[in-house]
Amino acid sequence: GAGVPRHGTGEWQALDHRHYLHPFTDHHDLGQRGVRVIECADGVYIYDSEGHRILDGMSGLWCVNLGYGRQDLVDAAAAQMRELPYYNSFFQTAHPPAIELSRVLGEVAPEGFDKVFYTGSGSEANDTVIKMVRRYWDLVEQPQRRVFISRRNAYHGSTVAAATLGGMAPMHDQLGPMVNFIEHIDQPYHFGLGAGMDPDEFGLRQARLLAEKIEETGPENVAAFIAEPVQGAGGVIIPPDSYWPEIQRICREFDVLLVADEVICGFGRLGEWFGSQRLGIEPDLMPFAKGVTSGYLPLGGVLVGQRVGAVLGQQGGEFAHGFTYSGHPAACAVALANIRALRDEGVIERVRDDVGPWFSERFATLADHPLVGQARSIGLVGAIELVRDKDSLARFDKDLGVGGRCRDACFAQGLVMRAVGDSMIVAPPLVMTREQVGELVDKAWRSLDITA
Ligand code: PLP
Repeated sequence: GAGVPRHGTGEWQALDHRHYLHPFTDHHDLGQRGVRVIECADGVYIYDSEGHRILDGMSGLWCVNLGYGRQDLVDAAAAQMRELPYYNSFFQTAHPPAIELSRVLGEVAPEGFDKVFYTGSGSEANDTVIKMVRRYWDLVEQPQRRVFISRRNAYHGSTVAAATLGGMAPMHDQLGPMVNFIEHIDQPYHFGLGAGMDPDEFGLRQARLLAEKIEETGPENVAAFIAEPVQGAGGVIIPPDSYWPEIQRICREFDVLLVADEVICGFGRLGEWFGSQRLGIEPDLMPFAKGVTSGYLPLGGVLVGQRVGAVLGQQGGEFAHGFTYSGHPAACAVALANIRALRDEGVIERVRDDVGPWFSERFATLADHPLVGQARSIGLVGAIELVRDKDSLARFDKDLGVGGRCRDACFAQGLVMRAVGDSMIVAPPLVMTREQVGELVDKAWRSLDITA
């Protein structure tokens, strides 16, 4: 590529090991395996430095919704970079792509979400949520509402505040208690936590954990509840139908703001523009990132509904928060091209009515494999649960690392699937064909055979 030298795989691996510290990586382990170098991509496939073609079942990190190789997105970035590659001053300036994107986001978002604050990532979006919610409660003269309630195994990002807001124990362990106003409740994870229970009863029980936590904290102290509509990195946790309506009711009862983290679910993943629409959630704030640009350039933000927008958008006083790259012009131009394509090509309707149902049906057949205790999906995101015993649904011994082995087998078969413990998860590009769904499921089955 432009300006980057061409090396063989071994040379890239040596350079990588010497110089490059990777996110979420054990470098001793990586040094022994050797990094896999991805050189190019097209459609739903990535290609490594040894020429392997790999079906990207994770859309990168759940973000390449339109797939790779979209000339329209590339052209939008290049044209904007020529015209105005960058400008922000924080002092009463704006540029056309950010203004236009704000308008367009208001069109695709649910009723009332007609304001947006930009960030460079989903983590920054969730940090923004924390400050924005505080600012809101200060302005409406309930400044004691400081506590956020979140869920175990939630992923809300990697910055200090977002990592604490999330519920990933290993991240908390390395961070320590630097942020002290966040509480966590259990997930609506029926397979893992609700064995033997009716799913809807279980959904209600898990939702009521929120009411209990609010009571315990003192309702007057609770600022907001935050959750992903479908928990992603925590293992694709699709809640029972009873869960979200009860959460919504509880938030209303205690006047607690509801934040739907749409970083994964937003921009079509569940077959609607936002996961909240698919699951009937009416949130107050929607942090987003990833799919807004299909990952072609970094962009995130917070979509602000009526209740908070009316206060933040009208009342005086400065919201002392922002980033150099808030509303970056090239990223906004790519987001506009991305949204145009999602609209004009009917990509989201296709996920809802065609390829999503097809995927659900085909993906469900993986439950027939002897190693699989459950296969679940919604839209174009799914998970399979690996079990040692299909009848008792007993798990493998953790030390066996069966999930990791299955992930490696997938890669060897030419498929990216991610392991979360012994759950295998997928979130392929929204543009995949029925045939490619078949390829994904066939490769997953063969990988399970190898793992078994
Ligand atoms: N929120 C959710 C639900 C996510 O899945 C992620 C990233 O995976 C984030 C927030 C953080 O986004 P970023 O990695 O862009 O900071």
